[in-house]
Amino acid sequence: MAYIPKVIDFKLSDYNEKEGLYQFVVELQDGIKCRMFYNRYPEWTVKNINRLHTTPCPICRRDYICKCMANVVDQIHAQVQDRELISSVLSQA
Ligand SMILES: [Zn+2]
Repeated sequence: MAYIPKVIDFKLSDYNEKEGLYQFVVELQDGIKCRMFYNRYPEWTVKNINRLHTTPCPICRRDYICKCMANVVDQIHAQVQDRELISSVLSQA
């Protein structure tokens, strides 16, 4: 069965406004947390995603580095966009 990520939390972690680089920590329904690297210009684009190693990967079950989340990053990004999470967290920053 394909893994379907569901975003439950989205937080600003770090950013460089001048460069337009932003890091967010996204939490998924199954407790998985990932750091997402975004480039703001010319439009919000995901540059990278890393699973935080607090829980094993939900896809391959490894508890160390793997690339699985890169395969579902488009789905995560779609939820971030649909729910306007970036503008929401930036307005609170
Ligand atoms: Zn994995």
